Amino acid sequence: YEIVDPHPDPDEEAAESALRPTSLSEFEGQERVSDQLGLVLEAARHRGTVPDHVLLSGPPGLGKTTLAMIIAAEMSAPLRISSGPAIQHAGDLAAILSGLTEGEVFFLDEIHRMSRPAEEMLYLAMEDFRVDVVVGKGPGATAIPLEIPRFTLVGATTRAGLLPGPLRDRFGFTAQLDFYHTAALEHIVFRSARLLGAQLHAEGAAEIARRSRGTPRIANRLLRRVRDFAQVRADGFITPAVAQAALELYEVDEQGLDRLDRAVLQAMCHRFGGGPVGLSTLAISVGEERETVEEVAEPFLVREGFLMRTQRGRVATAAAWQHLGLAPPTGVQG
Ligand code: ADP
Repeated sequence: YEIVDPHPDPDEEAAESALRPTSLSEFEGQERVSDQLGLVLEAARHRGTVPDHVLLSGPPGLGKTTLAMIIAAEMSAPLRISSGPAIQHAGDLAAILSGLTEGEVFFLDEIHRMSRPAEEMLYLAMEDFRVDVVVGKGPGATAIPLEIPRFTLVGATTRAGLLPGPLRDRFGFTAQLDFYHTAALEHIVFRSARLLGAQLHAEGAAEIARRSRGTPRIANRLLRRVRDFAQVRADGFITPAVAQAALELYEVDEQGLDRLDRAVLQAMCHRFGGGPVGLSTLAISVGEERETVEEVAEPFLVREGFLMRTQRGRVATAAAWQHLGLAPPTGVQG
């Protein structure tokens, strides 16, 4: 696992859940989303109804699962968790939906990866709190309507644009999570340090926040690694010098690039003269899976202006050459 991979790491589940905020007031850094969602929940509480279905979109590690848990907690409702890839047949979904209790929050992660028949069943469930269970096959098949309890669907997806229009339209509230500002990440790192019982210097927190790629999951992971370092190689106190030394050891540089990011830039500039080069070729030359390069390294390198995607392949920008301490060849943009 790359240390800067924003995807959830199964081995980290316990460590992560210990650091999850449990109420909206503790959920830092997405003020607009918190405000709007707070209003939706409060209005539902006032009316004594179940809140509208909520769609959360945004890159991994920004707090979608956390928000689903917060919604359930704020509504004092039970929570059921599943994901699109886990629901391959409409029957799988029918089983979950019919097992829900009144007011339950149903978190469906990676909702864009559900099968088509399940998706259609979900439309009806969201709108009419009903599923049609098909009995039999061929011309003799009949649909038996089955009422299900009123529930709140919290769907999560990396991009809302991946969802078919009819599904998107059935959500009463849609929130787009954005990458966090460094100041918000500093607060998050402070809060996590307090929960971990780690002593953290303000500048140490800033150092970690700056290298976290705008992503709380990565900030918390870097904090845990820096804390290890502080305990074993220093006196436990996370000063800026300790944070810097630890992050150097883990090969995360000042701008949050790790070993893989730098390998990609080095291959781009040294081997391919800055590109354009295809993703598969690039992945082979850094000895990584195509998916890892595409989902972990590339989005960050593009966002930070080191890499451009063009029709003919990936191209290194002037900033990429400079980051490697090289002079960009004439004519290179960015
Ligand atoms: P996602 O579901 O979007 O991949 P998660 O909700 O699992 O992300 O969040 C990943 C980690 O980041 C969790 O450990 C969580 O505690 C932390 N986190 C996410 N958002 C926040 C936030 N706004 N404030 C504090 N911690 C957060």
